[in-house]
Amino acid sequence: MGTDELTARVVGAEDLGRCVVCDGVSALVVWRENGYEGRACRCGTVYASPPPPLGAVDPTVDGHPDSYYAVPARRRVRWIQRYRPRGRVLDIGCGEGHFLAAAQAAGYDVAGIEPHPGRARRAEARLGAPVECALFESCRPGEAESDIVYHCDLLSHFADPIAALRKMGGFLRPDGVLAFEVGLLGGIAPWWYTMIGTIGYPQHRWLYSVRSLRRLLARADLELAHTAHFGLAPGTLFVAGVRSLARRYRRLRAAPQRPGPPAAAARVSVTRFVDRTESFWRYTVGRLSPRVGPATLFAIARLRQSTRAHRHHVSVVSAPHLGAPQRRGG
Ligand SMILES: [Zn+2]
Repeated sequence: MGTDELTARVVGAEDLGRCVVCDGVSALVVWRENGYEGRACRCGTVYASPPPPLGAVDPTVDGHPDSYYAVPARRRVRWIQRYRPRGRVLDIGCGEGHFLAAAQAAGYDVAGIEPHPGRARRAEARLGAPVECALFESCRPGEAESDIVYHCDLLSHFADPIAALRKMGGFLRPDGVLAFEVGLLGGIAPWWYTMIGTIGYPQHRWLYSVRSLRRLLARADLELAHTAHFGLAPGTLFVAGVRSLARRYRRLRAAPQRPGPPAAAARVSVTRFVDRTESFWRYTVGRLSPRVGPATLFAIARLRQSTRAHRHHVSVVSAPHLGAPQRRGG
């Protein structure tokens, strides 16, 4: 079945969805992939249309290679240290625990939530710290509130990111911070999607711009406090160039060969090299890059002032009879 035919079949079936940030509908299609359309909303969000049905995405499958989390883990921790140098960190979707291991080495008290049973078990063994095996949407707040709730590349995946952000806010101490990394692939010229090659439908339901991200956070009673912007334009153009060179190189080699074990080993080391190179383009070059095209953002958000004041009041008033939030290791 061709993509167009699949698109027609899926789209004909039910409603085309709405923007999660502003509830708008858009007729402007900027990308097509796997039977879904990316529709650019005027608020800066690109939403997957039609909405992926329940069960279309397995939340325990991670499309990123391990290195995506391992290589920049210390960099991510160092950035957060500037704003909250100590305390308890909860990592939502902690995977193999790369970020938490770096946070632990920097002196933080750590905990994680991870839906994949094997990864949760391995992370818990590696960290010697609690990792709950659960999907974030269905887990209950633990006994301890956190100074930092962290996640990486999750906001584009949640069916309801506003509900997810509200829930994250509920895991924070009143003066705690939500620290996260999020791709900014909304509100850009559509030809960038051709350069990137894939958006990853139906896994990535929402693509945000900075403007639409602020609005999304506001709907969850959160506000951006600090950001670091990393332009992906240089890296995207570099990778697109390498890909096209590789295609040319493969065409030049006459006989196609099946890779045996030595070739597979070489491929692993090449992959590692490419991962490190990609990280260099992404964060080192990207930090200096002009704000054009796709980007990734380190963000620190906090509860809005009114919510902070309310939460503080509740915890002080409830402390004598209901018990204050327990501190771990106290
Ligand atoms: Zn919108």
